[in-house]
Amino acid sequence: MPERGEDGTGVRTDGHWSDHAACRAADPEELFADGAGQNRSKAICFGCPVRTECLAHALDTRVEHGVWGGMTERERRALLRRRPTVTSWRRLLDTARQEHRAHIVRVAGPGARLPEAS
Ligand code: SF4
Repeated sequence: MPERGEDGTGVRTDGHWSDHAACRAADPEELFADGAGQNRSKAICFGCPVRTECLAHALDTRVEHGVWGGMTERERRALLRRRPTVTSWRRLLDTARQEHRAHIVRVAGPGARLPEAS
């Protein structure tokens, strides 16, 4: 999720993954919207190649506002309450992604088209 940058682009600069964000050129006002605006933000996230990294960052750093990784602040709070023992969402989500990719290869074979890894 971009934050309003000094250059007005709204692009975060706290990690390389944000360079590939689907919302890189989006209006921060739209991305921090409420209600229906959040659904529009989430729609952008669903096609984002760095969704996992974005969500992990928001969960690991307890970002309180906005849609990050396709989840609203309310959804992230609920997830954090359900999983209070997770110490690194980045590690947990990376592991889940690797296991998912391995499962696809097991089921579809070594030539399977895999989800992008960033
Ligand atoms: S997952 Fe959504 S909020 Fe995060 S970088 Fe991608 S488009 Fe932006």
